[in-house]
Amino acid sequence: MKRFDLNTCQKVNEWLKKDVKRIVIIPHINPDGDAIGSALGLNDVLNNAGFESHVIVPNDFPVYLNWLGSVGVPLIYEQSSEQCHKLIDQADAFFFLDFNDLKRMGKLEEYLRTNTKKVVLIDHHPDPQIKADFMFSDTNVSSTAELVYDFVDAMDMLDHLGVNGANALLTGIIADTGSFSHNSSRPPMYHIVGELIKRGADKEKINESLYNNFSEKRMRLLGYCLSEKMEIFPQYRTALIWLSAEELKRFDFHPGDTEGFVNYPLSVKGVVFSAFFMEKHDQVKISFRSKGSFPTNDFSGVHFSGGGHRNASGGETKLSMVDALSLFRELLPQYSELLEKDC
Ligand code: 5GP
Ligand code: MN
Repeated sequence: MKRFDLNTCQKVNEWLKKDVKRIVIIPHINPDGDAIGSALGLNDVLNNAGFESHVIVPNDFPVYLNWLGSVGVPLIYEQSSEQCHKLIDQADAFFFLDFNDLKRMGKLEEYLRTNTKKVVLIDHHPDPQIKADFMFSDTNVSSTAELVYDFVDAMDMLDHLGVNGANALLTGIIADTGSFSHNSSRPPMYHIVGELIKRGADKEKINESLYNNFSEKRMRLLGYCLSEKMEIFPQYRTALIWLSAEELKRFDFHPGDTEGFVNYPLSVKGVVFSAFFMEKHDQVKISFRSKGSFPTNDFSGVHFSGGGHRNASGGETKLSMVDALSLFRELLPQYSELLEKDC
């Protein structure tokens, strides 16, 4: 299926063939399954097609995604900035994946501020704020990984999609749909899933690595959150969980350990809005989820410098945890009408 404007595809195809050899792919900060999966999937195809492609992630990513890469793939900017600077300086082209705002590149944003090379954006977040030279943006798809598959198809590069790329792209789709439980009602996605499985993607292994691969401490941290830290506001159909730096340390926190915690309160009958606050370095990082029509991305954008999708978004604040939680609690009455709506 060709989802994109044919003219743009032709232009990109000609430009890639004529002017591009070295490519750097960058997904968003705090990369999740779709960020890593879409980036490594595209990277695999581009390298197989004869380009010199590298993935640079702004910061560390969950260990359960390690198997999709290899030693030094992807490179982590916070850990090997000099090597990353070299690759960026030599690149003929950049692919930005799974984000709609340059702020989401973390410290890489500053280094790329003087970039004059062309940028291709492939993303499924609403309202892209990035002025890319070529935009492949569609909010209707399940994931950026799904869009990457379509992009590869549109570039006539599907022959270069091997088993590694297929596993990476299917990881992106499965991660962003919660194993086909949301954002997954459009038939073309299942065609793509079929094509990825045909190319050797291992759906069981992906599910095992995403959902049944945690440390004992992480399971106990989840139990602690649900039994001790979950606060429900029945009148606002809202739930809140928060973790201090001390609590995270106590449970030997690693990146990715709290992934998905924010979803659990939505399985409480009546709850339509869930928030998860955690202390991270000198700020508080927040995840929001909702069921139905409540726009968590607007809420996050207005009050917590964030954004994302209607039902899944995130943000951050420099306020202390105590003040951030007070702000959140004080805001709820303003949203009572929206939260009470039949979702
Ligand atoms: P998560 O809660 O899993 O970190 O993120 C959920 C969604 O919100 C993802 O689509 C992610 O890209 C987006 N998101 C998370 N944090 C931020 C943020 O600080 N700013 C913006 N603009 N989007 C975010
Ligand atoms: Mn995504």
